[in-house]
Amino acid sequence: MPETLEHSAAAGHRFDTVLIANRGEIAARIQRACRELGLKTVAICSEADREAPYGSTADSFLCIGPSSAAKSYLNQHAIILTARLAGAGAIHPGYGFLSENAAFADAVEKAGLVFIGPTASSIAIMGDKISAKRAMMAAGVPCVPGPDTALPDDPATIERIALEIGYPVIIKAAGGGGGRGMRVVPKADVLHEAIALTREEARKAFGSPSLYMEKFLEHPRHIEIQVICDDHGNAVWLGHRDCSMQRRHQKVVEEAPAPWIAPDIIQPVGLACVQACLQIGYRGVGTFEFLYEDGAFYFIEMNTRLQVEHPVTEMTSGVDIVQAQIRAAQGHVLDLIQGDVTCEGHSFECRINAEDPETFLPSAGVVNHLALPAGPGIRVDTHIHAGYKVSPYYDSLIAKLIVHAPTRAEAMARMREALAGTEVEGISTNIPFLRALFEDGAFAQGETDIHYLEQWLKLRRAA
Ligand code: ADP
Repeated sequence: MPETLEHSAAAGHRFDTVLIANRGEIAARIQRACRELGLKTVAICSEADREAPYGSTADSFLCIGPSSAAKSYLNQHAIILTARLAGAGAIHPGYGFLSENAAFADAVEKAGLVFIGPTASSIAIMGDKISAKRAMMAAGVPCVPGPDTALPDDPATIERIALEIGYPVIIKAAGGGGGRGMRVVPKADVLHEAIALTREEARKAFGSPSLYMEKFLEHPRHIEIQVICDDHGNAVWLGHRDCSMQRRHQKVVEEAPAPWIAPDIIQPVGLACVQACLQIGYRGVGTFEFLYEDGAFYFIEMNTRLQVEHPVTEMTSGVDIVQAQIRAAQGHVLDLIQGDVTCEGHSFECRINAEDPETFLPSAGVVNHLALPAGPGIRVDTHIHAGYKVSPYYDSLIAKLIVHAPTRAEAMARMREALAGTEVEGISTNIPFLRALFEDGAFAQGETDIHYLEQWLKLRRAA
C-alpha cells in the first residue's frame, strides 16, 4: 500500500544507504537496524579493525585510516569523502567519536548528506553546559540550584553567588565532558583557589575558560530520561533509566526503570523533557541526565546521541530506538504517541570490558575462547567472536549483556545466570567483578547512590 503523504519521508531526507561512522558493538547494532529497515550499509574501519566481523556483513567495507582514532574515526574529511564515494546518503555517528560534534553534523549536511542525529545548532546548545542549563530552565526542566550564566571575574560577586547557593558547591567547565573539568568546593576558604585551578584546566582541556557554579549534591542517584522526536513537532519520552553504578563517572551497570521512583514524581519531569525538545526543535533521540536526591530531580546535561545503555529502554518499552532514530532522520512522522508508551518489566545491562577486574587496566589480546549466554529475556550486543583480537587503541567495551524479566528481583537472578554463562578467555575482563556486584545486598535493594560502587570497591580491596 502506498504511504499517505503525511507518513512519507520528506523528499530531502530520503536515503537508501547509511555510512556507519563508528566501530565495535554499536557499529554492529546500527548495521542490523539498517538492514531491518531495508537500507544498505557502508562500514568503515581503521587499520586495527580490518578484521571486524561487521565488515563482511556490510554492503561495503572501507578502511579510512591508521589505527589512531584521530586519523580514522575522528577524521571528518575522510568519513564524508568515503560516504560520497560509496554512495551513502546518510551518516550514523553512533556514540562517542564524532557523535556530539556540531561542526561534523554541519559538515555532513553541507556535503548534502543526512546526519542521523539532531541539528548542529541543537548539538552546540547542549554541548555548552551553561547554554544547556539556560535552555532547560526556560523550558521548565528542574535544574541544580545555581545561575545559568558564566562566573564573572569579580571575586566579591563570586563569593556572593556561592553563599546564595550554599556550600558545598561545584565549579564546572561550560565545555567539560567525560567527568573532567569540575571541582567540589566544601567551604569558602578554598573557593578562589578551586576556581583558578578549574579555569586553567578548562582553558587547556576544552579550549574555553568559561565556568559556572552550582550546588554540590552529596548523595544523588543518576537517573535519565530517553526521548525521541521527529521533524514534525512530535516528541515522546520512553521512560527512565538508573545509571548510578559508576566508577570514575563511567557507567558500569544500567537498569530500566529506575527502581522505586513513583510515577507521579517522574511524570512531570518526563513531560518537561518533551516540552524542552519541542521548544528547541530537537530531532532524533536524546537523553536528559538528572541527579535525583531527596525526592527531587535536577538536570545536569543532555546527551544529543544514541547512548550505550539504550537497550534497557528498548527491552522495557518495546521500541527499537535505533530504528526509530533512523526513521526520524528520514523525515518520517513518529509512529507512536505518548499514550502508546508503556514500561513492562525490568531490564539490566552489564558492560563487559576488556580490563583487569581488580586494577581496571585495559587488557588487549586475542579472545581464544568465547561462550555467550542465551535463553528467554537474554540479549547480547557484541562484535566479538572466538579468535577476535581486542586492540589497545579504543574503548575497552567488548560486549553488553542485557536481561529482561517481569520484576527487578527476577531480572537480577537472570543477570546472575547470564553472567555465569559468559566465558571470555585469552584476555582479562570485568566479569568476575560484575558477578560479585550482582550478589551485593544493597544493590539488590535498589536506591544506591552514585558513590556506592567506589565505596563498595574500597571495602572489597580492604577485605
Ligand atoms: P560530564 O559531561 O563530564 O559527564 P556531568 O555534568 O554529566 O559531566 O557530570 C558527571 C558526573 O559528575 C555526574 O554523573 C555526577 O556524578 C557528578 N556531578 C555533576 N554535577 C554534580 C552536582 N551538582 N552535584 C553532585 N555531583 C555532580
